[in-house]
Amino acid sequence: MQITAAVAREHKQPLTIEQLELDDLQTNEVRVRMVSVGICHTDAIVRDGVYPTPLPAVLGHEGAGVVEAVGAGVRSVVPGDHVVLGAAYCGFCRRCRSGQMAYCEHLFEEDFGGRRRDGSTSLKASGETISSHFFGQSAFATYANVVEESVIKIDRDVPLEHLGPLGCGLNTGAGTVLNELQPPAGSSLIVFGTGAVGSAAIMAAVIAGCTTIIAIDIVDSRLALAMELGATHTINSKTDDVAASITAITHGAGVDYAVDTTARPEILAQAAQALGIRGTLALVGAARPGTEVGFEIGASLVKGWTFKTVVQGSSVPQVFIPHLLDLWRQGKFPFEKLVREYALEDINQGFEDSRNGFVIKPVIVFPR
Ligand code: NAD
Repeated sequence: MQITAAVAREHKQPLTIEQLELDDLQTNEVRVRMVSVGICHTDAIVRDGVYPTPLPAVLGHEGAGVVEAVGAGVRSVVPGDHVVLGAAYCGFCRRCRSGQMAYCEHLFEEDFGGRRRDGSTSLKASGETISSHFFGQSAFATYANVVEESVIKIDRDVPLEHLGPLGCGLNTGAGTVLNELQPPAGSSLIVFGTGAVGSAAIMAAVIAGCTTIIAIDIVDSRLALAMELGATHTINSKTDDVAASITAITHGAGVDYAVDTTARPEILAQAAQALGIRGTLALVGAARPGTEVGFEIGASLVKGWTFKTVVQGSSVPQVFIPHLLDLWRQGKFPFEKLVREYALEDINQGFEDSRNGFVIKPVIVFPR
């Protein structure tokens, strides 16, 4: 069938809106008519060549839509179901079988390879091969053939226009706190970078009952929103002394948990220093492969602290995303406050507005 999609053709260049040919469904695939799709920072770094998905490619990995058809082997959804699309995973490795699909042994091929397992792609432009199946979906398109593992069935009462970002950024930020760190009520948590992932982490920290929630960013409007979402303190790292501010807020004790979404080595070092005794620092931000960071390991030895990397909020998406929707219904996860809607034709403006700090979560909404 003919579809309309935003195609990344060259690194660091705007996406182009094109008519493409979408092939037939394979047995493990679900044809989804896209209603909305979030733009994530990970789309930007793949467009820019930080991760090696072969171009030209249709990116987009925060889709939400309606099932139009299913392959012969699909059992979890039927035509007409409403779905959110998450990251792909193989489903059969040791990690996947243990419910740790965020750490799938085949994660890179499944999410960034741009090909199906048999080496084919589902997309062509006048005979030219276009990479597909980005995160199992390639959702910057009116329709996609999506692997079943990426499909999360949701109730029909929630408007699909809102739901794109749940599949990656919001799942990641909220899951890092609720699934991985699991802070006890009364604990303290700091978030470096209050974009979509960091904002979700702040909402989750409120849900967990953290009583000190510190938001750090360089954009004042993002810090103001962080307060609205439940942060108890904000620090602008461009204008404030970060270490002195954290010392003052925690009365010298440091924080129990730190989440970094900036992926900047100097911020990671600062985050490690912000930890108190037995503190944990979770890196979520995606840096260019080869990036290194230096931590103080002399005096900090006696803190007994932990550094860990966290992927996709360590969540089982088919379980956790419906939970996030329940929290949203109860007013505890008001992620619509992060969103601004764009037409597919304006996708490059959405990328730019995210980059310059103007919008936290741009979401493409497709005409019905
Ligand atoms: P974003 O660009 O919206 O947020 C990053 C924030 O960091 C921005 O608000 C920015 O102003 C802030 N920032 C930049 N430099 C700073 C500094 N020096 N001090 C303080 N704040 C600073 O991006 P996002 O969509 O929230 O994603 C965050 C990161 O997480 C990205 O690197 C993305 O690729 C990554 N990511 C990782 C996973 C995962 O599974 N680990 C999943 C989704 C996204």
